[in-house]
Amino acid sequence: MSNIHRDADTLASPDERRGLLSNVDLTADADTDVEGQPTCTSPALSSKKRKPFAGFLFLLSLILAITGFELWPRPRHDTRSGRHALYSNGTHEFKKTVLMVSIDGLRADYLDRGLTPHLLDISREGVRAKYMKPVFPTLTFPNHWALMTGLYAESHGIIANNFWDPVFKDSFHYAHVESAQNPSWWLGEPVWETAERAGIITANLMWPGPWSTSSGVNSTYFIPWQDKYPLEEKLSNLLEWIDLPLETRPQLILGYEPSLDQAGHATGPMSEAVNMTLAAVDLFARNLTQALGERNLTHIVDVIFVSDHGMADTSHPTWLYVDEIIGQPWEGVISNDGWPSMGLRFASDTNVTEALERLCQYTLAHPGQFDVFAAESFFTDPTTSVDLIACNHGEMDAGTMQPMPERYHFSANYRIAPLWIVPRMGYALTNHEYGEGGMSTGNHGYDNDEPSMRAIFVAHGPFSQDTKAAVAARGESQNLGEYVMPGFQNVEIYNLVVRLLGIDAADAAITNGTAGFWDTYILPDARTSCV
Ligand SMILES: [Zn+2]
Repeated sequence: MSNIHRDADTLASPDERRGLLSNVDLTADADTDVEGQPTCTSPALSSKKRKPFAGFLFLLSLILAITGFELWPRPRHDTRSGRHALYSNGTHEFKKTVLMVSIDGLRADYLDRGLTPHLLDISREGVRAKYMKPVFPTLTFPNHWALMTGLYAESHGIIANNFWDPVFKDSFHYAHVESAQNPSWWLGEPVWETAERAGIITANLMWPGPWSTSSGVNSTYFIPWQDKYPLEEKLSNLLEWIDLPLETRPQLILGYEPSLDQAGHATGPMSEAVNMTLAAVDLFARNLTQALGERNLTHIVDVIFVSDHGMADTSHPTWLYVDEIIGQPWEGVISNDGWPSMGLRFASDTNVTEALERLCQYTLAHPGQFDVFAAESFFTDPTTSVDLIACNHGEMDAGTMQPMPERYHFSANYRIAPLWIVPRMGYALTNHEYGEGGMSTGNHGYDNDEPSMRAIFVAHGPFSQDTKAAVAARGESQNLGEYVMPGFQNVEIYNLVVRLLGIDAADAAITNGTAGFWDTYILPDARTSCV
């Protein structure tokens, strides 16, 4: 714990922690009113004890209502969102809490392998989506920042894991602390910033991204990236935060686990190592959910398991030597971004028209190997003689040369190089300098419509119950034991977290999320009915 940055540094006392564990007296009166605020309790805990008083309370309520008095004190703060409401686990007070864990590289159909019984159990008790669609490019840092900000890569600025910024005249590289932890690279407002601004304590266990934003806001608790950090220790870290006293306990807790992605890269998505790691993260998910259950927090804490992207088998790619395809203009390449794509910038004296012509000829002769996305300026520049439109065969299955498609949301940022070559599945881009080394057995970064790039969404807790109730209310599902949401985009996650934390919509950032998207899955006032 020594590497935790702590603004609020009061840890729970041993007694406090014991009180949150499974041997608590669940028959104790759960309605203790702390600081004059109302509490929400699990109905199973309190309904029997209340019955003898129900008639009396109803009569008293009626009298007080008529005379203008309130039987129960109202929350002292924002009653619209109810975000200051207190909920009891039987012994302690809790505020609305969201615990979101990203399991890097957990491809959506990994859940169909019969190796994740616990994640499936969790999803049956809660909900899951058929898949969650990553943003393009399907890389770790663009997607973790999309999950945090609700923005596409063109808007949040992390357009790849590595790229050149022509204004900064500097390179971003995810593994270099000087850029990865420099807030000026990271645009948009992460949900932990929104929460902290709203007075909500947040905690961050290694979520890919900066510790602080450029406006100087940071998570109250932060554990920086450390490789090979045991899952058991991550579990302990997350639960230590849950077990803090109310005054210092975070309401938004983020966690990150990279081992499955590492196994996928090293040995491919179909490997034994992936299957073993999958079983390990599945056990971690069970242990975390079980620990919350033991604390009687299932009706208070929303647990969300997500991933950033999937994984494709790249063990036997067909290598494409782009320097050979482009010819002499390749010597003018000054930056090469976005592996496994090639985002190319050229020196000003380069004959880019020739490069485009050669790429065009190649795609006509070898359809289906890669797509070339050229900046709009190439299509409107009268000095570009090549008929770029002609290179688009009009067949989406063939290699194409066209402006960046709208569905990628990947053009409106000066950081995106003017020529972006994206390999199709089964192909790998290289040049004679790099050769055919360095390609991992599994990889990602491809078209975000590829099924193998899909991510997961599994949720457990009050949100999932709301969702099932909302779906049942619409008559869409008779079986409330299990509900699988249709696939959705990960830019919706920001708005979900904001909503689950009860943050007023006016205090939230503008995102690329769909307005009203969660109205379909959350009953109106479902989370505030007890205040
Ligand atoms: Zn990743």
